[in-house]
Amino acid sequence: MGKIQILPESIVGKIAAGEVVERPASVVKELIENSIDAGANSISVYIKNFGIAEIKVIDDGEGIASEDVLLAFQRHATSKIKDDRDLIRISSLGFRGEALYSIARVSKIKIITQHITENTGTEAYFVAGTLKWQKPAVTKGTTIQITDLFFNTPVRRKFLKSSYTEKAHIIETFQNYCVAYPEISFSLFIDEEEILNIPRADTIYERVLQIFGSEIVETLKFKTISKDYYKIELFIGEKPKEKYKKLQLIFVNRRPVREQSIVSTIYKAFKLNYPQFLIFITVPPQDVDFNVHPAKKEVRFRNCQKIHQLIFKMAEFQYKSSMVAEETVQWQ
Ligand code: ADP
Ligand code: MG
Repeated sequence: MGKIQILPESIVGKIAAGEVVERPASVVKELIENSIDAGANSISVYIKNFGIAEIKVIDDGEGIASEDVLLAFQRHATSKIKDDRDLIRISSLGFRGEALYSIARVSKIKIITQHITENTGTEAYFVAGTLKWQKPAVTKGTTIQITDLFFNTPVRRKFLKSSYTEKAHIIETFQNYCVAYPEISFSLFIDEEEILNIPRADTIYERVLQIFGSEIVETLKFKTISKDYYKIELFIGEKPKEKYKKLQLIFVNRRPVREQSIVSTIYKAFKLNYPQFLIFITVPPQDVDFNVHPAKKEVRFRNCQKIHQLIFKMAEFQYKSSMVAEETVQWQ
């Protein structure tokens, strides 16, 4: 049974429009998000020549129904929202139905996918968004392989930064989703070399430890606080040595975001000279709006004050309590 639909014009008009495929890391981000939304337990990413030669993402998620495969590459085709009401309480990472369409237009793309309820899947190949061939295939989950990114948009290719910079963006993007989804195992290969291989973890604390190592995590205190369906999990500490890269990560409903107001509140609340932190904010889906920025990196809270209050409460408890690795701050 197919479940992808083209969004009606009335919703399309309300979606933050803009280019989602800025650089190879944006492709990696969109594909990983799709695998997470498909309920994958395991996601592997393969990169060649900083993403220009190849980006391949393999997942073991629910797959796409045969009748939906070609539809998935059309503009505003999504299985994740249907009407206006869904737009104000989004619980999936995707909702605009634009990623596969936009990526396909600027690359050569092969998909192999099979829906969990079907006996046969589909393999299809597109060049610059045009279907070249398709045939039945048998697989588990979804594999998407993008080759020759930006081959037909030489200007965009020219404006990419050095291969070093693009690779760094890919690794950072990959790492962000690893941090936010401890229940998924992730692996990343760049030019055939295994860069990261992270088995599933039971808790966010364990995942942060897997990624950043005990030397860094030991310098951080872990606190959680919750009130009225709002929850904040915070790793906070002072940057110990110059050699470390600045670590300041913000996740809202498991989505990596940039949010200057949260950074400022943490600076104000904790009064540390060089704070480093990872903050995971969970709010009811209807209390947050991700439909502000095309790449969904920005966020608007409907109750911004509450989050800032919770951060201040955490800071207050910090001064009262002794240094322990993990603690829960109770707040009635
Ligand atoms: P969106 O994620 O906003 O819905 P996309 O263009 O990223 O839009 O994907 C279009 C649709 O294709 C999704 O809604 C989903 O139904 C399907 N899809 C894409 N990638 C996958 C995947 N890895 N596994 C299962 N379904 C997928
Ligand atoms: Mg998507």
